[in-house]
Amino acid sequence: MARYTESVCRLCRRENLKMYLKGDRCYTDKCAIERRPYPPGQHGQGRIKFSEYGVQLREKQKVKRRYGLLESGFRHAFAGAAAAKGRTGENLLRGLELRLDNAVFRLGFADSRNEARQLVQHGHFRVNGRKVTIPSYQLRTGDVVDVRDRSKKVARIAEAIEAVDRRGVPAWLELDKAAFKGTVRTAPSREDITMPIQEQLIVELYSK
Ligand code: SF4
Repeated sequence: MARYTESVCRLCRRENLKMYLKGDRCYTDKCAIERRPYPPGQHGQGRIKFSEYGVQLREKQKVKRRYGLLESGFRHAFAGAAAAKGRTGENLLRGLELRLDNAVFRLGFADSRNEARQLVQHGHFRVNGRKVTIPSYQLRTGDVVDVRDRSKKVARIAEAIEAVDRRGVPAWLELDKAAFKGTVRTAPSREDITMPIQEQLIVELYSK
């Protein structure tokens, strides 16, 4: 599967947004966007003026990069959001939050979304007792995500869960840390998704 392999800190600096793509380092003073809060590249410190299209594009890129998707995956998620009832922009964000890899990260079983995706693909998690290896798997209210017994000793998972208190678990999820188990209490509302994003701009971009 194709994936982005360049420096992820460049992505944060490009979007001028802390996207927490690098695990522990994001919470230290080594964070690249804290040290160099301007876009990467030769002209990064110059004044950048975006067109209307440019503003919409940057908003889309922020969301796409935060969840670690490539363009095809993002378009697929958008199409699903547009086909569902309700506001497309909110549907899109909710659908992305409810991805299994995102929930694994948000529950603290992985240090970053990228790592969560790998761990899911390697078969370390179950949903309602059944092994699921599809990172984009859509969770529903009441679903239970847990770490398989033999995976509880995997260092990356054990170390990540120990650090969960620093990141916190969002209100729409419930974590039973001792049991390596999380439950989707409810679908996340717009207020639960704290990323500073104007999702309407993404809808406008794809409506052209
Ligand atoms: Fe982004 Fe984390 Fe890199 Fe900081 S350390 S720039 S938050 S990926």
